[in-house]
Amino acid sequence: MQSLSIQFVDLEAQQRRIRERLNSAIAEALDQGAYIMGPQVARFESNLAAFCGAKHAITCANGTDALQLALMALQVRQVDAIFVPSFTFAATAEAVRLAGATPVFVDSDMDSFNMDPLSLERSINRARACGLNPRAVIPVDLFGMPADMESLEAISAHERMELICDSAQGFGGTINGRMTGTFGRITTTSFFPAKPLGCYGDGGALFTADDGLAHLLRSLRVHGKGIDKYENIRVGMNSRLDTIQAAILLIKLEIYEEEINARNEVASRYNERLSNVVEIPAISPGYRSVWAQYTIKLLDGDERHLVQCRLKQSGVPTAIYYPTPLHLQPAYSDALTDPAGLPNAEELSTRVLSLPIHAYLDKGIQHYIVDATIDAVASARHR
Ligand SMILES: *Cc1c(COP(=O)(O)O)cnc(C)c1O
Repeated sequence: MQSLSIQFVDLEAQQRRIRERLNSAIAEALDQGAYIMGPQVARFESNLAAFCGAKHAITCANGTDALQLALMALQVRQVDAIFVPSFTFAATAEAVRLAGATPVFVDSDMDSFNMDPLSLERSINRARACGLNPRAVIPVDLFGMPADMESLEAISAHERMELICDSAQGFGGTINGRMTGTFGRITTTSFFPAKPLGCYGDGGALFTADDGLAHLLRSLRVHGKGIDKYENIRVGMNSRLDTIQAAILLIKLEIYEEEINARNEVASRYNERLSNVVEIPAISPGYRSVWAQYTIKLLDGDERHLVQCRLKQSGVPTAIYYPTPLHLQPAYSDALTDPAGLPNAEELSTRVLSLPIHAYLDKGIQHYIVDATIDAVASARHR
């Protein structure tokens, strides 16, 4: 066996590449002394909007706040049903409760891992029958692939619901060339370090084409400010991206497109060699994923456990996103769900396994990971 140390997410390799530029950008921010809302924040917002083609980009403190700010801007209330997937990170549903609205859990598609539009329709009927007002849907671009925006935009328009896209994992993904950040009323993202575009702390952003909403979001992120923060015209939050993180992100955004392409090359190599071994992640035609995760499906939980242990012995770190769907979590087990239940979310949580993927994964290590995976699956199946 080779002696190598494989990282699940390798932030060091990227840092080595841009370290000098980071050092001078951080030094510049220190020299300037404008730690909050310094000029780098506005510059980053303008570059970020240009990158994805959104009219407005508004940064904030993290991806969870971004979702909460979006819901606050839309003035959601408790009677409002907000439809979210169950098979996602907790923040998607958490923001709904933080904003004082009612989450309703929708099932996911087995192949795309994303919100199933048919389950959404059943869930809307259920919410209405329970006296709730279907108000918004928050699809997630899970593992980096955009959600089925065509179907979800159609359903939202038909039901007069708002479409808020949680692209914390999917920023930079595209559908027929159109980038996340330009779908729905508002898109949110996160710059948590391990996300595809991450900073060195917490950070987040919102995107919208609506001038009024953009203005409102800029007020909400600074205590509901009016002309300045000492005029408070509504209840807001304290949710700003700090200047140093904006300075870092300005540099990281410059190499992001290249990194997305590198991630896609790794995914293609994995796909080629793993497609007849396990169920590989399906990318819908015309879609580009940013590969926040490369997630395979094993036959069942027992096989996954054996494969994961065996890979660990070979020095290949893996992760399970997500071991428990949200409707089965204590904090959310009282929430409404699709009346047909959420069988796919439950099954996915027992079968998924994410392999290491990032833009700086050496080709030899990619093959080592694939070899180890093929080996681990074979040994699990011949037990
Ligand atoms: C990471 C993540 C968030 C939250 O982002 P933070 O910046 O950690 O608050 C929200 N939704 C999804 C789907 C995420 O993966």
